[in-house]
Amino acid sequence: MTKGNGEDPKTGSRMERFQQGVRKRTLLAKKKVQSITKDDVKSYLLRNAFVLFTIVAVILGIAALDSKASGKMGVRAVVYYMSTTIIAVLIGIIIVVIIHPGKGTKENMHREGKIVQVTAADAFLDLIRNMFPPNLVEACFKQFKTNYEKRMFKVGIPPNDTSTVASIISNVSEAMEALTRMREEIVPVPGSVNGVNALGLVVFSISFGLVIGSMKEQGQALKDFFDSLNEAIMRLVALIMWYAPLGILFLIAGKIVEMEDMGVIGGQLAMYTVTVIIGLLIHAVIVLPLLYFLITRKNPWVFIGGLIQALVTALGTSSSSATLPVTFKCLEEINGVDKRVTRFVLPVGATINMDGTALYEALAAIFIAQVNNFDLNFGQIITISITATAASIGAAGIPQAGLVTMVIVLTSVGLPTDDITLIIAVDWFLDRLRTTTNVLGDSIGAGIVEHLSRHELKNRDAEMGNSVIEE
Ligand code: ASP
Repeated sequence: MTKGNGEDPKTGSRMERFQQGVRKRTLLAKKKVQSITKDDVKSYLLRNAFVLFTIVAVILGIAALDSKASGKMGVRAVVYYMSTTIIAVLIGIIIVVIIHPGKGTKENMHREGKIVQVTAADAFLDLIRNMFPPNLVEACFKQFKTNYEKRMFKVGIPPNDTSTVASIISNVSEAMEALTRMREEIVPVPGSVNGVNALGLVVFSISFGLVIGSMKEQGQALKDFFDSLNEAIMRLVALIMWYAPLGILFLIAGKIVEMEDMGVIGGQLAMYTVTVIIGLLIHAVIVLPLLYFLITRKNPWVFIGGLIQALVTALGTSSSSATLPVTFKCLEEINGVDKRVTRFVLPVGATINMDGTALYEALAAIFIAQVNNFDLNFGQIITISITATAASIGAAGIPQAGLVTMVIVLTSVGLPTDDITLIIAVDWFLDRLRTTTNVLGDSIGAGIVEHLSRHELKNRDAEMGNSVIEE
């Protein structure tokens, strides 16, 4: 059998050839799965339907209100958005300080990373610029992005500079590179959804809706037109939803194959993942339902039960904007929330109210500080709370947008922005969970705003002789 020292060079090379073959086949399988993942029909169609849907839904919702009612509703929605986001950030901070997932990190974990000078003011200004697009048609295809691409390049994994990445992620696979390319294709900018200036369109739609609403009978033809268009889009979405289980299956399968290359700081990363999950659960299962109960005195679980389809879609798409049509459907058709509220509160909420993202941003920043043995003082923790809130407002409702706006939080306290790459490996999963929390936050917000606005809605009904957006 074996000769000499007992090693058979033939068997050895056969073994090597076998291993190479296995590696090749694995890479081939990855490519196949990725191509299916990338072109995921459901997610693509849903994202594109979002543009048309947002415009129509917002115009319709606002047109059915008078300016006084919409003003009050707007204030209530913003108060809800801000308070729940701040609660989420606090939960994130408390939980990561208590669990301390970054504990035990070795000194050599520290990497040299250029700190990108991005301030919260930068992101905020981009947000404002996007709110008022100079050209509405252009806004359907393009968003405002001051220096954003430059920042993205520094934050993401530069395609030709793998030196930093190599020290962090050993054995970076083709799967990871493909993931990076995908991230570069979709450049998340505050207020944008998949290359569309969503916020600009929402602001225009609110103004247009207000004008139609003030036109009374003269505006009826336009209301009927948008109502019918809305119905058509809803039917299209219902059709697309049949593909959801298949799309989700491929998405998750693709990511699991990519996970093979994980294993950077395994232990800490696992603890970090568990910490984020605990934080999100506290917010989604305790805080939000409790808030709903305290304000409306109704059973929050019945309300949440009606949202299951939207929550599963959020889990599958990692995008609160892509989930929006389903969120509308669940709230209006199952939970019976007034359309004038959902159409006003939800599109804005999907863009700016992200409790899950805020919680995650604060938690992840502190985790990165822990990994670097960087002691944060009280002032820095306050800075993290404020910037995490701003970063969650600035994040678009698309997959992994929160990972990109993390740069604002890290920069604000002088943490290395390159360390975002540390948490990339698990972000595909955590993104799904925080998106689900985001959608739940928006939906509970709609329920609460409807409850608080019930008198104005009744008055408006009486004024209009009950003829407002009937089923
Ligand atoms: N994917 C999230 C969303 O659409 C945003 C994020 O990355 O946190 O809500």
